[in-house]
Amino acid sequence: MPKKRASSAEHAEPSVKLSSRGAARLQARHPWVYRSDIIEANDIPPGAIVRILDQRGKFLGTALYSSSSQIAIRMISHGSIADLPALVAERIRAAITYRTELVENTDSYRIVFSEADFLPGLIVDRYNDVVTLQILTQAMDAASVREAILQTLKEEMQPAGIVERVDPRIRDLEQLPPLPSRLLWGEKSSTVFKMNGEKMNGDETAGIRFHCDGLEGQKTGAFLDQRENYAAAAQYAHGEALDAFCYQGGFALHLAAKCSSVTGVDSSRLALEMAEKNATLNAREIEWIEGNAFDLLREYAAANRRYDTIVLDPPAFAKTKRDLEKALGGYKELNLRAMKMLRPGGILVTCSCSFHVSGADFLEVMADAARDVHRSFRVVEKRGAAKDHPMLLNVPETNYLKCLILIVSD
Ligand code: SAH
Repeated sequence: MPKKRASSAEHAEPSVKLSSRGAARLQARHPWVYRSDIIEANDIPPGAIVRILDQRGKFLGTALYSSSSQIAIRMISHGSIADLPALVAERIRAAITYRTELVENTDSYRIVFSEADFLPGLIVDRYNDVVTLQILTQAMDAASVREAILQTLKEEMQPAGIVERVDPRIRDLEQLPPLPSRLLWGEKSSTVFKMNGEKMNGDETAGIRFHCDGLEGQKTGAFLDQRENYAAAAQYAHGEALDAFCYQGGFALHLAAKCSSVTGVDSSRLALEMAEKNATLNAREIEWIEGNAFDLLREYAAANRRYDTIVLDPPAFAKTKRDLEKALGGYKELNLRAMKMLRPGGILVTCSCSFHVSGADFLEVMADAARDVHRSFRVVEKRGAAKDHPMLLNVPETNYLKCLILIVSD
């Protein structure tokens, strides 16, 4: 009897049996299994830690369970785990070490990027002395896990403030009680941060500075995934520049160091107000236009406007696979107009952050657009997200950002 009790305590977690398709996904090192690939799961509480078994009952590892998401299973270990909060703390420390080794010339970067750091449902960013976090899954929302996250970030980062940013839509989808975005710890929720300080085209520069309000803005504040692309774009930028979908001026401010004039366009007035504050902070003059970039590019192209440098960084057009055709059409239209407007020797920096649009799709769209405007382009750089947004080889979803730098060569 005692023996039996000991073994059931050892396997206190509930177990989930997967179809052969589900098991094959895990064996291919993808951490997600969809609900449709679960063949047995009895009374599993939301956010539970579960043992994963294949059809024959063979143990495949440990996962976090969601009772509401279509992605019911997110693997956390290929073995057993004794203590989830301790494992989360250990993985956060490993994620910090990874950045310490790879990230340079910035006081701001993503510290934890969910699956790419083996912490599904947790995103943490550092903006100088302010740390922001987002919790996206039931399991990460558990009080003991939250406590471990907070403690580890306090100890390892020693920030002046830790802010939780809440996406109400995601909490709703995960059937988690609503929460406001708020300061979790410390005193500071806004700050000034800096990036691309030392090396920009070999020149020593002070870097570009930005305001960050941890409680405002889209995503987690700034688009840190573009950090290395800003520096790359600045390397080729010259003459008159247009930054379409400029948000708070990430590209525009970097271009301003190299260009005779810069215009930034965005449909969000709030984003442009912050962009103007950022321009002042860097003692730059940039023209900001509030409007629809599609309409503006159409008008400018029709009026034969010319630029030497154009950046296109639209929001994700393809949120699902079904939107793909329409999204490709959208990318083509934008890029075609920009390609038309470039002066000889001009630079096009063009981005897509839709995961469903592959690197190959994006290149094909660009080739199509170039054919339609009868111009030749050299691809000088094929880039992705900055190194603090790691890409996992077997998880295509982590390879979402594409950034091409092209030079008109006709
Ligand atoms: N390049 C920016 C990030 C762009 S995110 C950076 O590096 O920080 C996409 C931006 O497109 C958002 O700021 C959003 O407000 C804006 N946007 C969305 N639809 C738009 C439209 N039709 N016209 C202009 N801007 C738009």
